[in-house]
Amino acid sequence: MSKLKIAIQKNGRLSENSLELLKNCGIIFQNGGGKLIAEAHNFPIEILFLRDDDIPQYVEQGIADVGIIGENVLVESQKTIPVVEKLGFSTCRLSLAIPKNITYSGLTYFNNKRVATSYPNILSHFFQSQKINASIEVISGSVEIATGVGLADAICDIVSSGSTLLSNGLKEVEKVFFSQAVLVAKALMSPEKQNILERLIFRIRAVRSAKENKYILLNAPNKKLKKIQKILPGMNSPTILPLAQKGWSSLHSVIREDTFWDVIDELKLAGAEGILIIPIEKMIV
Ligand code: ATP
Ligand code: MG
Repeated sequence: MSKLKIAIQKNGRLSENSLELLKNCGIIFQNGGGKLIAEAHNFPIEILFLRDDDIPQYVEQGIADVGIIGENVLVESQKTIPVVEKLGFSTCRLSLAIPKNITYSGLTYFNNKRVATSYPNILSHFFQSQKINASIEVISGSVEIATGVGLADAICDIVSSGSTLLSNGLKEVEKVFFSQAVLVAKALMSPEKQNILERLIFRIRAVRSAKENKYILLNAPNKKLKKIQKILPGMNSPTILPLAQKGWSSLHSVIREDTFWDVIDELKLAGAEGILIIPIEKMIV
């Protein structure tokens, strides 16, 4: 039986989340001891551990069927391999930064400046679209020190919180590209592998929906239920069960993680009591 080969980053900022995603999808495999290939015990999949920059090429050439990489690496690679699922982790941005003591006058500041980056393709595309004429110094790492040592006037690098920039005397002045981890796949796949990929994506969606939602239980007097139901943006109509205490009910529903703090304040005001918020393991919608 054929197996789907998935390439993930061996060591780095995507590795842990990629491994955790596979684990949460119920895929069990042995990892460790510097192994470069692992086979899952309970799902027709083989995992290749690679440098993230190499993954687009492996997928384009069909050595791996699918891969997990940052959109920044995908776009920079200029390979035409389709994104089959956005994964929502390792979100970051590519930004332009200049020494913090310089007053920033807007994008035209970059005209005739030297900008150091590991992302020459994304950056030159950005400058072209903004009609800026800057020269790009390509370096493969430690970009933040380029201005301090006189290699460049500015840098374009990955930013998540901005603290690395600050500690290197830089400030973020323009956001060039927004990235997150994505699942890419080679263009042509056998029906058998396509089927495995669909099963994998089905599991990934179930894991993500579960993470994004919580199960909520609360008690309320019956006469307040209507108002409470209006506040709860549940996926379906909520379940309502009578409590032993006369005139009271227990209401169960699902709410989105990112809204529950707002909703909870409203619910309390509307008369809800004993509110429980419970994580969901998997959610099939
Ligand atoms: P490799 O050795 O595999 O080439 P690398 O050093 O090129 O690794 P990492 O620093 O591990 O790459 O980053 C991998 C990816 O994680 C980046 O391409 C980006 O998509 C994402 N990423 C990088 N920095 C951050 C950050 N600070 N926060 C969130 N995501 C990030
Ligand atoms: Mg890399």
